[in-house]
Parts: sequence; C-alpha cells; structure tokens
Amino acid sequence: MRISFYGGADEVTGSRHFLEADGACILMDCGLFQGHRRQAIDKNRQFPFRAKDLSAVLLSHAHIDHSGTLPLLAKTGFSGAIYSTGATQDLCNIMLMDSAHLQQEDAKFFNKIHQRAGDTERIEPLYTQEDAGRCLELFAPQDYEKPVIVSDNVRAHFLNAGHVLGSAMIMVEASAGRSAAPRRLLFSGDLGRRKTILMNPPKPPKNIDYLLIESTYGGRVHDPLEKTEEILAAIVRRAADENGKVLIPSFALERTQEVVFILEKLRREKRIPEMPLYVDSPMAVDITRVFQKHLDHFTIDPEFKDYINDMDDPFGFKTVHYVRSVEESQRLNDLEEPAIIISASGMCEGGRILHHLRNHMGKETTTILLVGYQAHGTLGRRLMEGATKVKIFGLEHDRWARIVTLHTLSSHADKNDLIDFIERLEPRPRRIFLVHGDPEDRLSLAGHLKTAGIGNVEVPKFGDTFELD
Ligand SMILES: [Zn+2]
Ligand SMILES: [Zn+2]
Repeated sequence: MRISFYGGADEVTGSRHFLEADGACILMDCGLFQGHRRQAIDKNRQFPFRAKDLSAVLLSHAHIDHSGTLPLLAKTGFSGAIYSTGATQDLCNIMLMDSAHLQQEDAKFFNKIHQRAGDTERIEPLYTQEDAGRCLELFAPQDYEKPVIVSDNVRAHFLNAGHVLGSAMIMVEASAGRSAAPRRLLFSGDLGRRKTILMNPPKPPKNIDYLLIESTYGGRVHDPLEKTEEILAAIVRRAADENGKVLIPSFALERTQEVVFILEKLRREKRIPEMPLYVDSPMAVDITRVFQKHLDHFTIDPEFKDYINDMDDPFGFKTVHYVRSVEESQRLNDLEEPAIIISASGMCEGGRILHHLRNHMGKETTTILLVGYQAHGTLGRRLMEGATKVKIFGLEHDRWARIVTLHTLSSHADKNDLIDFIERLEPRPRRIFLVHGDPEDRLSLAGHLKTAGIGNVEVPKFGDTFELD
C-alpha cells in the first residue's frame, strides 16, 4: 500500500487522500479547499492525479470540505463508483447542489465586477448544477459495517464515526498476495466525541496497521456538554420576560438539528415558556427531513431512544415553524412577540441570518447565541469578540444585543477524545498520520501522543507520499 496526501494535511479543509493498494487507486474524500487565498482556488481547480485513473472513491461524510470537489471529479473524467453511506448520499444530494449553485453565483458576481471595472478577467464556475447532477448518479450507497468490494484484493468498510448524520470512518483492507497477511488502514474521517447529543460515539476497531486520524481540536478541550440545556433554557426564559428575540446563526447540517432537538426537549419538559421557534433556512429544512428519514442512525442512549419512541417527532415537524419561502422569511421582520430564530450561515457570512441580525441587533432585548465555530475574519467572529459596531451589506450597525457563545456543542473529538480513541486501538497501529488540522493543533496532538508513549506519529504535508509495507 502507498498513501499520498493531497489535501486536508496541514490544514482543516480539502480532505483528499490517495491510496494505492494492489493495483487499485482509491481516493478517500474529495473535499473543497475553503478560504479566499489564491492557493485554495488553484488547489480546487486541478487534481494532482488523473480522475480517470481512479478505481473508486470512498467518501467519509457529506461536509463540503470532504465532498465538495466530487462534481469536478465527475466533470474531468471519473466515472467509477462513489461509495458512501445512504444518509451521506441523501445529504450530498442537497449539499452538492447547493455548493454548485454557490459556485455559479460566485463566478457570475466575479465576472460582473470585472466587467464593470472594464477589464477582461473572467472565470468559469468550478462546477455547475449539471456537473453535480452527473456526480450524484455515481453514488453507490452502502450500509455501515458491511464489506464493499473495491477490487479483487481490496475491500472497504464504513464504520460509524459519530460526527454528523451518515458520517463514517473508512477501513480499507488489502491483501498483499497469497502468503502475506492482509493490511488494514483506518481513515477516521471527521471523528465525533465520546458524548454527543444525537450521534453514537465511534468505536475503535481492532487490528489496524495504519491510522489516518483527524486533529481539528488536537490541542484543545471542549466545554462539557451537560451545561447546554441550562444555558439555552436561561436565554429563552429571559427573552420571554423581556419580550425579546433569540437569534441563533447555525450550520444547516447537524448543529441546527441539535439545537432544535434540545429546544423541543426543554419545551416538552416545560423548562421553557411556550415561544415560537423558526428554522429559517431552506437547506436546513431539507436536511432536517433527511434526519427524520434516518432516525434509526441516532444515539443508542436509552433516554434518547425512549424520547424518540415517545414523541416520534424529535425535530418538531408538528411544532417548529420550518421556513422555506422568501416571503415567509421576510414576514419574520414584523414579528412583535418574542421568538427564537435559527438561521444560516453559521458564521454570519451570508444567508438569511444577516437580515435578522440587521433587524434585531440594535435592541438590548435581543440575544445572539453563537453555537458553532467562528473562523477569523467572519462577522460571527467579530460578534463573538464583542464588536459594538459591525457592517452588514456595507452599512454600519450598532450592536446592543447580548452575545452569548456556547462552546459545548462541537461535532469533533477534542484532544482527550482523540487520545482516548488512539489508546483503545488494539494492537497499537504501526504508523499514525495526523490529518485535518491546523499546524499548531497537529503538532500539539503529536506532542501529547508522544508523552502518552505513542510514537510513529507522522504529520504529513501536502503532496507527501508514504510506502506502507
Ligand atoms: Zn465534517
Ligand atoms: Zn472536515
């Protein structure tokens, strides 16, 4: 076996790992590099391998940093199978179409600006909805744990990763000839936590020779999950007392459903007053329907199972207002009564949340609740850091709303979860590669592993190739 790292190596986005095993060329993930740097744009536009040479793609989960250049792969000649879990396929149907739409809009905007400026620079979208449609036809959905035959001597298994709905660790098993024992490589994909709201925690499989593991939070520890309900309940009660709004910018996948689930639970347990809850994001609405379809994937926690059996509607389709149309979204501007509005994007960089922020951030009775990661340079980050004046659509707004940041909800394993996962692998893998992390997080995790007596840890760079024998 030989592994080459073509993304998600010294960075969090653009997950792409190229595995050669017994004559088969397998791409694990085909993610989009995110960021505005020229370098990210170039990395997205060309692959360091030939799309037609690939035997198959194994996809860990639907997040765009793992799936977002699959349409380009199909556009440039790949016609093999894209293996993923069924839930990942359902989510990709929504997310890759949305990503294609954004690519087309971005290209249109870029070209308009340059035309106005009188220059001749024009760009083509990275891919279109037509390309995305073609790529979606290549999906071959698989069950967890069942073997996928990639070639005569190579099999793969999707194992629960506990990160988001449908997420999987990928285990590839290759026999190196009749006499040699098969080699097993495990790619963690994005790994969930030992304790989460909706997902089952990942279980370390046995007899792994080589491990590729994410390290997004390799240097950090999350706040305990237990505090979440209390904090949310207090915010909602205060909004009811003050006749205010609660605005929650949220990622459409997983975070929105988690927050809806907790709020529904609090409402049913009468720990918060009755207050209308709006989910104002067409993509979040579509994704929540996929969650409803795959209720069997969720946590084995007995309390949660009872809860689902009891209500059969954990995402509140009967009680929550799921908003798709623009008109209905605009009507929320005139809402007098207290309300909770969950809307995308999670870092306030676009989407309908901007309208709600513009309308309500000038009032002291509003609470802006930040529930997800806020990257540097985003509006969400500026709010998190306490900015009192911010620009939205080019106009300056005073911020009088309260800002509350919740650090308890993360769908990634933290430093302790990662170390625990690696320590429970038996026997210890021969080599461990840390991927999907910024340099400081990867190095910090490598250092902690060394202290815990775990050696043979590599921190590969983009383009590095390792022989695995
Ligand atoms: Zn992810
Ligand atoms: Zn990721």
